[in-house]
Amino acid sequence: MAKLDWITEELNELKEKGLYVKIRVLQSSQGPWVVVDGKKVLNMCSNNYLGLAAHPKIKEAAIRAILDYGIGAGAVRTIAGTMELHVELEEKLAKFKKREAAILFQSGYNANLGAISALIKKGEDGVFVSEELNHASIIDGMRLSGAPKVIYKHLDMEDLKKKLEEVKSKKKKLIVTDGVFSMDGDLAPLPEIVELAEQYDAMVYVDDAHGEGVLGEHGRGIVDHFNLHDRVDFEMGTLSKAFGVIGGYVAGPEEAIDYLRQRGRPFLFSSAVNPPDVAAAIAAVEILQHSDELVKKLWDNTYFLQKGLRDIGYNLGNTKHPITPVMLYDEKLAQEFSRRLYEEYNIFAQAIVYPTVPLGTARIRLEPSAAHSKEDLQYVIDAFEDLGKKTEFLK
Ligand code: PMP
Repeated sequence: MAKLDWITEELNELKEKGLYVKIRVLQSSQGPWVVVDGKKVLNMCSNNYLGLAAHPKIKEAAIRAILDYGIGAGAVRTIAGTMELHVELEEKLAKFKKREAAILFQSGYNANLGAISALIKKGEDGVFVSEELNHASIIDGMRLSGAPKVIYKHLDMEDLKKKLEEVKSKKKKLIVTDGVFSMDGDLAPLPEIVELAEQYDAMVYVDDAHGEGVLGEHGRGIVDHFNLHDRVDFEMGTLSKAFGVIGGYVAGPEEAIDYLRQRGRPFLFSSAVNPPDVAAAIAAVEILQHSDELVKKLWDNTYFLQKGLRDIGYNLGNTKHPITPVMLYDEKLAQEFSRRLYEEYNIFAQAIVYPTVPLGTARIRLEPSAAHSKEDLQYVIDAFEDLGKKTEFLK
């Protein structure tokens, strides 16, 4: 079919450039150890930070919801898709985040797409002020809006001030930033961002996808970590990482959330999250609300792994989070590390290379979880020491 030849050409180009993604298939549930291609491997690249994805309480909640409510939600939220479970989850999330209200979307991606595109619209007297390294879903939300944007340099508050000064005459300004940057584990300087926002009368929107379940008291997220409740207007989160399920949400002032229910496109035009997923998410929020044990375990594991890797000579950059970038710099070396960790040590860990990160900053990104044992993590440290020496990266 000649009219589809361009697809073959594009795929070949991706393969030639080394950008074609090989998708590994898991044959077990998510957890510290998973089965891939029939082989049991130590999973060091999932966002299941607290090990909740296969937690017994969460599984039970989903099973009970199937029996009570079935599987499909049947419609979009504004037609017949809103069940009492959706409302209960939104209320529990708002309480957990210490905010007035929350709106649930089908994923974190959809939450960003829906909320950001609704907050400033094309043709309005408004502008997005966006951090350089923001997640793709934020960028797509701004694109869907079509309103203008200015971009400030990563973590650079001088530059943010400069950009705010340039657009200060605009009626609506939305500063939008990731809370935790997913390739480096560094944190947005939210106290300074909030100060500048107040000075320039700008709204603040934080993507807390990697912060919740990890930072703050009981894993309430980056806003709680910096104690900035109600000074950040919108806190977006995902239920697919630390919460171990699926779904996304935005928490904030009641009226603003009500507005998003009227204007968030994925809320209006894509069907509601399935009842078992919603019930599982409720159980996950309840687990965190009642106990911070898993969050403490995650941090204990994080310190253990990061200290062990630093002690043997690896640079982990500026991480302040379980996201652990083991800097190898060279693209080919990072690919080789990932392949050999998998083949020779049964460790499943991703190489992150250009264009996801700048050329010459390739790394293996490790993500410890609360479900790993110290033995698991010591095994990873030992493997990195061994492979580092074999490849002569470590002298
Ligand atoms: N924001 C950030 C910073 C993320 O890392 C992700 C997930 N990769 C998302 C949003 C999207 O979340 P979800 O996977 O729930 O769609």
